[in-house]
Amino acid sequence: MTFSEFGLLPEILRAVSDKGYDTPTPIQSRSIPAVLAGQDVLAGAQTGTGKTAGFVLPILQRLNGGPASRPPRALVLTPTRELAAQIADSARAYGKYLRLRTAVVFGGVGINPQIDTLRRGCDILVATPGRLLDLAGQGVLDLRAVETFVLDEADRMLDMGFIHDIKRVLKLLPPTRQNLMFSATYSEDIRALAARFLRDPQLIEVAPRNATADRVEQWAYKVVKDHKRHLLVHLVTANGWEQLLVFTRTKHGANRLAEHLLRSGIEAAAIHGNKSQSARVKALEDFKRGRITALVATEVAARGLDIKELPMVVNYELPNVPEDYVHRIGRTARAGHAGQAVSLVAQDEAPLLKDIERLLRRPIRVEPLPDFPVAAAGPLERERPLRHTGGQSSDRSPSDENPRSGGLRGRQAPGHRRGGSRGPQSRRGHGGNSGHGRMPHR
Ligand code: AMP
Repeated sequence: MTFSEFGLLPEILRAVSDKGYDTPTPIQSRSIPAVLAGQDVLAGAQTGTGKTAGFVLPILQRLNGGPASRPPRALVLTPTRELAAQIADSARAYGKYLRLRTAVVFGGVGINPQIDTLRRGCDILVATPGRLLDLAGQGVLDLRAVETFVLDEADRMLDMGFIHDIKRVLKLLPPTRQNLMFSATYSEDIRALAARFLRDPQLIEVAPRNATADRVEQWAYKVVKDHKRHLLVHLVTANGWEQLLVFTRTKHGANRLAEHLLRSGIEAAAIHGNKSQSARVKALEDFKRGRITALVATEVAARGLDIKELPMVVNYELPNVPEDYVHRIGRTARAGHAGQAVSLVAQDEAPLLKDIERLLRRPIRVEPLPDFPVAAAGPLERERPLRHTGGQSSDRSPSDENPRSGGLRGRQAPGHRRGGSRGPQSRRGHGGNSGHGRMPHR
């Protein structure tokens, strides 16, 4: 498909060609015709998909040749000033051969120049909610001529607590208008918001950026930080995992974990930048040949590791950057093989998990903790193994009070390979308590 097939104005096509685009992105192919036709749209798309042109190009087309008085006829609401500025820049670039004016208003800078700008008039207004409401409250902004309203990054708006501002903005708009909503994720709150103001929207969903992530079976355990190493030992031994790449955040953490695994009878080695090249090569070789069960690596050390048919990736700690998660799990499920990725998530990592889910545009299933042995806290831990059975032990450390930790004796972890079970699908009926209130949109 080419841009000329949309029936866009020659001026718009010229601007698109100036930008160097020749093929519309998937979101553009679906949203441009819908917006041109005047439909409401609910689109699942994140930044980087080309969504901005997906709504800006048809809006420019619809606004072209309007009245000269110029109260804004398109309003784009965004969560941050950076995004607002970026969208305004795009609108100006795509509309540079048209006689349309784009203005942008956001907080954190002086309001008076923005008042002057609004007085001069604009066709498209890009705004963050707080400043928009300020300006409307001061009587310098009339939104009653808005024909198309765009709510961009709606999920981020809600995360940032803008729901009430959004509702107030909606009240300032005329009842009859076109509405477009973009969101990278679909929570219940997003659905409720969509139901509030979209009329019979066209649903547009584009493929996630990294298709690999889709082929990897992923789940997580919420676990007390101090118990992670014990849970990992349990998972490896109970499920007979034979080859796993384990990611830790620090070199020190990688060393400590490898030592713990060794003490627990699991062949393991750590690779990271402090190890000599020859030690790293040897560890990798041992791992590939099956002499080592667990290779514990930091992000950097794992880059460039070429391990074919790696069945299992363990995120012992979640990465700070969600894209790193995709890279990590992309090491499994290669060349058409199914792969599995399990994440051990401590309480303070919950926001990182949320970021990852946002990037993947779907939730990661949280499985109940299996029953696993936990050593007592402190230096003597190796001498005092305790059974972690929730209420059955009279000698538990305080951190064992985690109510999620016990009472599940006998459960098999997902990914259990004995007895023919490949993974959690086989036990979904009693497993998948995602607990995130987040549903992938289908
Ligand atoms: P967005 O998701 O709207 O932030 O766009 C992401 C990037 O893709 C921006 O740098 C756009 O300039 C670029 N872009 C948008 N549409 C296309 C296209 N059809 N072909 C190539 N690049 C594009």
